[in-house]
Amino acid sequence: MEPILTLSDIGFGYGRNRVLAHIGFQVHAGEIIGILGPNGSGKSTLLKLMDGILLPHEGEILIRERPLSDFKRSDLAKEVAMVSQENHFRFAFSVMEVVLMGRFPHLGKTQFEGKEDIKAALEALEATHTDHLAGRSLDELSGGEKQRVLIARALAQEPNVILLDEPTSFLDLKYKREMFRLITSMGKSKGLSVVIVSHDIDLASQYCDRILLLNKGVIHKLGVPEEVITATDIETVYDCPVHVDRNPATGKPRVSII
Ligand code: ADP
Repeated sequence: MEPILTLSDIGFGYGRNRVLAHIGFQVHAGEIIGILGPNGSGKSTLLKLMDGILLPHEGEILIRERPLSDFKRSDLAKEVAMVSQENHFRFAFSVMEVVLMGRFPHLGKTQFEGKEDIKAALEALEATHTDHLAGRSLDELSGGEKQRVLIARALAQEPNVILLDEPTSFLDLKYKREMFRLITSMGKSKGLSVVIVSHDIDLASQYCDRILLLNKGVIHKLGVPEEVITATDIETVYDCPVHVDRNPATGKPRVSII
C-alpha cells in the first residue's frame, strides 16, 4: 500500500512542556487508523501536526514524498481535511453553506462556487445522510446531525486523508455506531485514509485497521487491534484495571473496566 503520510521521529512541545517525542508511522491509502490514549497523552496535538496547524520541532512529515511544510495552505487542504471539536461558527450558516466552505481549496480565481463545487457538496451531503438538512441552519441541528455535516464539509473538500478528533463524543450509542460505519465505509469506497482520535476503544477496535496507542507523548504500541488492545497494554497506558476478551459478534478485542 502506498503511504500518503509519513511521520518520522516527530517531536513537539508547548513552550517547555514536551508533549510528543519520537513519533514515527505511516498512513497508507484507504487505511483507517485509530489513535487511542488517555487525556493529555498528545492525541489532538498529533492530529494538529498532521494537518499542518502546528509544525513539528523535531522530525518531518511527508505527504507522499513532499514535506508538508512546503505546501501552501490551499494545496494542503486538497490533501488533508480535519474535523475537530473546535469548529465554531459565529454566524448562523446553513448546512449547504457550511459544506460548500469545504470547497475553498478548489475555487478558481473568482472565488465563486461552480457546478463542480455544488456537485461535490451534494455528494458529500448524500454520503453523510444530511441532504434533507441542506437548507437548515447549523445552529438548530442535534449533536449527531452537526457532526455529520462537519464530516460532509471535510468530504466536499475531496482530500486524501481525513483527520477526526473525537467525532463521537456527545453522541448516543446509535449515532456512535453510525459515525464509525460512515467513516470506515468512506475509507473503503473512496480509498480515503482516515485517522480518528477516539475514547471509544471498543468501536475503534471494531472499525479501525490499525490502532496507535499513545502514552505520555510516545507511541506505546502500533498495530492491528488484536496486538494493541490487550489487558496489559490498556492497563499500563490508562492506569486502570480492565478485562479484555473478544466481542462474540465481531471477534474483535473488547475492554471491560473491572
Ligand atoms: P489529548 O488530545 O491526548 O488529550 P492534547 O494533545 O490535547 O492531548 O494535550 C497534550 C498536552 O499538551 C497536555 O498536557 C495539554 O495540557 C497540553 N496542551 C494542549 N494544547 C495546548 C496549548 N494550546 N497550549 C499549551 N499546552 C497545550
